[in-house]
Amino acid sequence: MTLFYTNLDRSKIDVRRIHKMGRNAVDSNAVFIDDLFVPDKDRIGDEGQGFEYILDSLNPERVLVAAEAIGLGRDALGRAAAYAKERVVFGRPIGQNQGIQHPLAECWVQLEVAYWMTMRAAWMYYSGQSCGAEANTAKFLAGRAAFDIATRGVLTHGGMGYAREYQVERLFHEAILTRIAPVTEQLIMSLIAERVLGQPKSY
Ligand SMILES: Cc1cc2nc3c(=O)[nH]c(=O)nc-3n(C[C@H](O)[C@H](O)[C@H](O)COP(=O)(O)OP(=O)(O)OC[C@H]3O[C@@H](n4cnc5c(N)ncnc54)[C@H](O)[C@@H]3O)c2cc1C
Repeated sequence: MTLFYTNLDRSKIDVRRIHKMGRNAVDSNAVFIDDLFVPDKDRIGDEGQGFEYILDSLNPERVLVAAEAIGLGRDALGRAAAYAKERVVFGRPIGQNQGIQHPLAECWVQLEVAYWMTMRAAWMYYSGQSCGAEANTAKFLAGRAAFDIATRGVLTHGGMGYAREYQVERLFHEAILTRIAPVTEQLIMSLIAERVLGQPKSY
């Protein structure tokens, strides 16, 4: 693989928008390149070294996405906790019931674990240490936490959780992306199994 940064010649490059369930601040596209001439001056680094260069950015990207997921989870949890205090059913706030407050407390616990793992991975990266397992673990924990908490955010709002007005539905469909990209949970498990636990490569 070789990296390049060149003119977007539309006669040789076809860019097709992918319509998504969320994350519309950044669009995603299928890009088809056919018979495009790329001059040497537009090449990034050496030929054939592209994958090595990309590898350099993978761990910080995982840490970044973990931090994004934690922010998303915190927002969902804050909204759920506020709603639980305010919404009165059968003469008392729903948050007075342990059936509502315990899952929210568990969400907080999940988020704290993910946060500190993310901080550890970020610190290791900044201090120049190898942090593949830690960055992936942070992304795994934070993605799961964001998804579980966004789901809890919708459920705590009951029917109103499905309404756009309360924002939690948006957090719900944004949260699942942090479980998929930039790497899926299955691939993280494969990395931990292979690199940390010494198991044979499975894929
Ligand atoms: C909105 C969005 C933005 C993105 N942005 C970028 C970007 O900017 N740059 C970029 O490079 N990529 C980007 N991606 C791609 C993203 O990283 C991939 O979609 C993701 O890594 C999963 O790869 P895949 O889609 O090819 O899944 P596949 O490889 O097709 O896998 C499908 C499912 O099967 C599972 N699976 C595959 N193999 C195995 C196995 N051996 N054992 C068990 N399970 C397995 C996977 O974990 C997954 O759950 C983006 C994706 C989305 C949705």
